[in-house]
Amino acid sequence: MSEQTQSKRTVKDKDVVTLEYTLTVDGEVVDSSEQHGPVAYIHGMGQLVPGLEKEIEGMAEGETKEVVVTPEEGYGPEDPAAYISLPRSEFPPEIPLEPGTVIQLSDPQGRVYNATIHEVRDDQVVLNFNHPLAGKTLHFTVKVVSVREATPEELAHGHVHGEGGHAH
Ligand code: ZN
Repeated sequence: MSEQTQSKRTVKDKDVVTLEYTLTVDGEVVDSSEQHGPVAYIHGMGQLVPGLEKEIEGMAEGETKEVVVTPEEGYGPEDPAAYISLPRSEFPPEIPLEPGTVIQLSDPQGRVYNATIHEVRDDQVVLNFNHPLAGKTLHFTVKVVSVREATPEELAHGHVHGEGGHAH
């Protein structure tokens, strides 16, 4: 009797990958699966930042890796044009105008944007519409918990069903 060596599944396009991860930026943990459980995503569909997705390609089930992602392959560089100054009078008085506070604004079409209050002047408030991680180098520790083929339905919907994904 010879022992069967079963090679572990590795990540390729259109696989559903379940990940445990920790994201550290400037020496601080900003996001982690310990806070809200592992994430499941479909590989090769741009659901992760490009620099991370490319490093996960080919990883085996159970494998752990440290990945450093540059801003260019992460959330993009900081865009100076995304700093916008608005008159203070446009803000409802109940909003605390503190630098660092994230607020939501909607445009006339009803789209919602997140902005961080950057600076509060006498009559103006400077908002930063950049992604909070724009311009940052991202340090990930990732572990591939499981890999399976995506179902045709998942591919059609563009998201994962079942555990760690959408319930519908
Ligand atoms: Zn669906």
